[in-house]
Amino acid sequence: MLSAITRSEDLKAIDGKTFDLIVIGGGITGAGIALDAATRGLSVAVFEKQDFAQGTSSRSTKLVHGGLRYLEHLEFGIVRAVGRERKIVHNNAMHIVLPEKMILPIIEGGSLGEFTTNIALKLYDFLADVKKTEQRKMLTKEEVIKAEPLLESDFLKGGAMYYEYKTDDSRLTIEIAKKAVEYGAKMFNYAEVDDFLYEQDFKINGVKVKDRLNENEISVFGKYVVNATGIWVDKMRKKDDEKAPQRLHITKGIHIVVPKTKLPLKHSIYFDTGDNRMVFAVPRFDVVYIGTTDTNYSDNYENPTIEKADIEYLINAVNTISPKAKLKIEDVQSAWSGLRPLIQEEGKSPSELSRKDEIFYSDSGLISIAGGKLTGYRLMAKKIIEIIRKRMKIEYNRELCDCKTRTIKLSGGEFDFEYSLINLIQFADQKYDEVKQLGISIGDFKKLFYRYGKNIDLVINKAFDFYNELKNYRLAWIYAEVFYTVNYEAVSKISDFFIRRTGMIHFFIHDIAPMIQDVADYMQKLFNWTSEFKEQEIEKFKQELEKASNFDI
Ligand SMILES: Cc1cc2nc3c(=O)[nH]c(=O)nc-3n(C[C@H](O)[C@H](O)[C@H](O)COP(=O)(O)OP(=O)(O)OC[C@H]3O[C@@H](n4cnc5c(N)ncnc54)[C@H](O)[C@@H]3O)c2cc1C
Repeated sequence: MLSAITRSEDLKAIDGKTFDLIVIGGGITGAGIALDAATRGLSVAVFEKQDFAQGTSSRSTKLVHGGLRYLEHLEFGIVRAVGRERKIVHNNAMHIVLPEKMILPIIEGGSLGEFTTNIALKLYDFLADVKKTEQRKMLTKEEVIKAEPLLESDFLKGGAMYYEYKTDDSRLTIEIAKKAVEYGAKMFNYAEVDDFLYEQDFKINGVKVKDRLNENEISVFGKYVVNATGIWVDKMRKKDDEKAPQRLHITKGIHIVVPKTKLPLKHSIYFDTGDNRMVFAVPRFDVVYIGTTDTNYSDNYENPTIEKADIEYLINAVNTISPKAKLKIEDVQSAWSGLRPLIQEEGKSPSELSRKDEIFYSDSGLISIAGGKLTGYRLMAKKIIEIIRKRMKIEYNRELCDCKTRTIKLSGGEFDFEYSLINLIQFADQKYDEVKQLGISIGDFKKLFYRYGKNIDLVINKAFDFYNELKNYRLAWIYAEVFYTVNYEAVSKISDFFIRRTGMIHFFIHDIAPMIQDVADYMQKLFNWTSEFKEQEIEKFKQELEKASNFDI
């Protein structure tokens, strides 16, 4: 269990211990490496200095996609590899990686004509091995308008329909981490690697880890140490060797969230911005999020900024493709900003930089990996473990040689049926029948189901227990979810719950205010917080809420 209750004790217990592998960074890359390692029988410890996924892995466009746009830069290899991964990630986590129909409008003077769109999508279908039912379909102007009335304009020429997969990036990361822990990985959030340990020949053989929740420090030894710290990769490489050259180019992308009532899209759209870029608008629950931008960045890494110009850029892009939308800056209810750890290439603009991943080797033995996509996490992990396997020079050993993650279901995704939307809906409906007596609407239940998947049973059982004790439906469900995320998903702070485990800060922001006190009260009980500490935690979270929803516009 990835439990926040036992976390500090578990961390203390590994002081002085040796693992086959230490991974620095608990984003999707680090979690993926842990899963691959643990399923091959390696002992592995992961240290994340913030919450899991609090770096870039909670700030993406939340799509498992092959990167149609990369075809423009002739990056066939990436599109092929990552495009094919979509199906695998979907099969292994069907509760949080779901097919999403995309409409791509073709406009007069746009960068994509009918011919190029058709060819690009055909190539995409081929490279990504897209299944028949999800292959592209070209649309006439009338068909586009019928499917998506908001796209009606004088300059609309036609369009295309194709599929990507939508996900929740931080939940995908936590489901990978939970599965890795099930296989024996030790994973810790709020555990910062603040120094390396070396043998006499200057080879790295461990790390010093500071527990950021109580300032304890431990030393942990590892036969191999992997630096999967995303945008912090260069910083860690320099900590190891101050002469290490800079390898990353950091760019920023923001997303804005508007109520669906202000932009009533029926489908996701992927459209031309007029400056040779493409932007997504993705409806989810009662909101639509729009993104992203791509600009150079060198400011604060922990809290990437959101500028008025970024928001205006996205608003203008929507109003240009959909003159009917008339979106205003005041319609934006929240936003998030993420930083891309891209591989540096001289003379290229942010949008031209490749999304490839790369591995860097340091003289000390430190292995660093950066770049890539959320979607390709499994392949990146496989590459790293293959390198380690070879370095271990172990005689042929089936357990270690075979990568198993292609078919391992992630936590919550262990359904015993093949995916079809009907199967999934039927399963959710059956579960709802079991709980509707507990005063929950089908809408609210489905939000929980698509968060926790098969693990919903654990949440349901706790909700029954709490109801029997408290005779209060509302509190029973809130406490059950807090209980589950604290005990099984390492939630230690109020912000972990509202931002990265439930995604409420962006998708149900108006539901948060009435819940904060109840969530904080129950966390106080679970963690034995003093009243003063609880008030400080509430205050800290309120500041984060303010930052996400009230920018200087
Ligand atoms: C705007 C935007 C949109 C995107 N959209 C998509 C998309 O739709 N689909 C897709 O496939 N990809 C997308 N991506 C790319 C994807 O999000 C990233 O490739 C991926 O999240 C990177 O994960 P990571 O684990 O390498 O880095 P991170 O998630 O940043 O993880 C690195 C972790 O290391 C931790 N760390 C740093 N220093 C230390 C230390 N000293 N000790 C311990 N821990 C440390 C950090 O706190 C951080 O959590 C997008 C990226 C951006 C920015």
